[in-house]
Amino acid sequence: MPSTSFDLLVIGAGPAGYVSAIRAAQLGLKVACVDKEPALGGTCLRVGCIPSKALLHSSELFEQTQGHLASHGIDVKGASLDLKKMMARKDGVVKTLTGGVAGLLKKNKVKVFHGTASFNADRTVSIGDDTVSATNVLIATGSVAASLPGVDLSQDRVDTSTQAIAYTEVPEKLIVIGAGVIGLELGSVWRRLGSEVTVLEYLDRILPGMDTELAKEAHKTFKKQGLKFELGSKVTGVKSSSKGVSVEREGADTLTADRVLMAVGRKPNTQGLGLDKIGISPNARGQIEVDARFKTTVDGVYAVGDVVPGPMLAHKAEEEGIACVEMIATGHGHLDYQTIPSVVYTHPEIASVGRSEDDLKRDGVDYKAGRFPFAANGRARAIDAADSGSVKVLADAKTDRVLGVHIIGHMAGDLIAECGAAIAYGASSEDIARTCHAHPTLSEAVKEAALAVDGRPIHI
Ligand code: FAD
Ligand code: NAD
Repeated sequence: MPSTSFDLLVIGAGPAGYVSAIRAAQLGLKVACVDKEPALGGTCLRVGCIPSKALLHSSELFEQTQGHLASHGIDVKGASLDLKKMMARKDGVVKTLTGGVAGLLKKNKVKVFHGTASFNADRTVSIGDDTVSATNVLIATGSVAASLPGVDLSQDRVDTSTQAIAYTEVPEKLIVIGAGVIGLELGSVWRRLGSEVTVLEYLDRILPGMDTELAKEAHKTFKKQGLKFELGSKVTGVKSSSKGVSVEREGADTLTADRVLMAVGRKPNTQGLGLDKIGISPNARGQIEVDARFKTTVDGVYAVGDVVPGPMLAHKAEEEGIACVEMIATGHGHLDYQTIPSVVYTHPEIASVGRSEDDLKRDGVDYKAGRFPFAANGRARAIDAADSGSVKVLADAKTDRVLGVHIIGHMAGDLIAECGAAIAYGASSEDIARTCHAHPTLSEAVKEAALAVDGRPIHI
């Protein structure tokens, strides 16, 4: 049994793991990284962020051909869907990027192992026939789809996002359970491609955790687009047969469909890792608890990304990984959770950073809000993005420091970046308002919303 030793062994090559490995190698550590999947990049690159965004883009282009282009004087009558080709394009994007991660690890001289890692002892891990020891071990094993009590995910037609990014036919009727990020993104994909999509949500609102005003606006827009919603719908069972699938609900009728997409959250992935052998017990939510330096209860063993508490986001996972290995290698590292943006890549996109208006009200913070609609933005008018879009800047009433920004509209996910930087640098809404923004751009709506905090927007 070959045995090798490293300064750092990273378990998992998702955004948390591969980015940590590269940063640690840049800092001069001898690094190894192991993943049980042949393709590197984790959930994000293989079956998450990237393939879902590829399909969101393709399906949006398809939808534009279904009448939306006519007002531009572009006649595309007879456009049809080649789903196989759409999926092949998506697979190609994934292949390029996962191959890119392998290339980056090689360039940075990170030794890659393929296989399932399991702890033998504190800092010794088995990977198939190999035994790897390291001064530091970083657990970055991510998450897997969660289910509900009474719902067996191994049934045919009862799918997680992994199946729903790879359908070979457009389901006539699709029931999505959960109006969170996955439900709305993949629900949008299949609605655009022709499915009748019904979204069942346990709560009385969509997108829990997002600023309520934004979520309400998004809800209205999605309904107009043809997504059906049944809020306050508690699913108690899902049964599959050769003909279809039925969804039972508490106090409501049973619904039937061709397929069901379970999108009720994800759970940390620690199965088979042998945590019991080193005395780490996940908390009640299955997460590995860590301190401010990402240290577990075992010396030299760290954890970052979806497997630890916090939002399950690829960029959060990356930043935690970088902060963690910088602390290991240099003693210093930093991550400000207030500046982590959250983006839903539907049409329109929905993006937030900092605190929501709900948070500020709950905490009794004295704040001012500045709002600006895309309808009054020249670029939004020019590119058909004026219908559903707005920016809300929330600033401290006394100091004017930006506390949160919430954007719904075309490219909201890109527009939010300057707002995160503003919060990171302790900027005021006046700072954003006095920054020259190029014309004509959607970013002028951010500037105008910042001006509106002080009651002086120009274009409304
Ligand atoms: P993962 O990406 O899950 O990587 C963990 C890796 O560890 C995996 O490759 C796994 O094979 C490996 N592993 C696990 N156990 C072992 C073991 N014992 N031995 C060896 N290897 C092991 N986030 C965003 O920020 N933006 C998005 O647009 C977005 N879209 C998403 C869309 C979908 C459909 C899904 C499912 C998720 C999406 N996410 C998105 C969430 C994002 O994918 C995760 O937050 C991110 O991948 C977490 O990174 P991670 O490195 O912690 O874990
Ligand atoms: P989620 O937590 O975003 O949403 C789950 C939804 O299911 C919630 O609205 C919840 O109230 C609902 N739900 C729970 N139990 C239910 C029941 N019994 N009946 C009906 N509804 C029920 O989870 P998700 O959409 O599965 O996404 C998982 C994770 O992946 C999220 O943490 C998210 O951050 C990440 N993700 C991020 C992006 C992005 O950043 N764009 C995209 C996809 C996934």
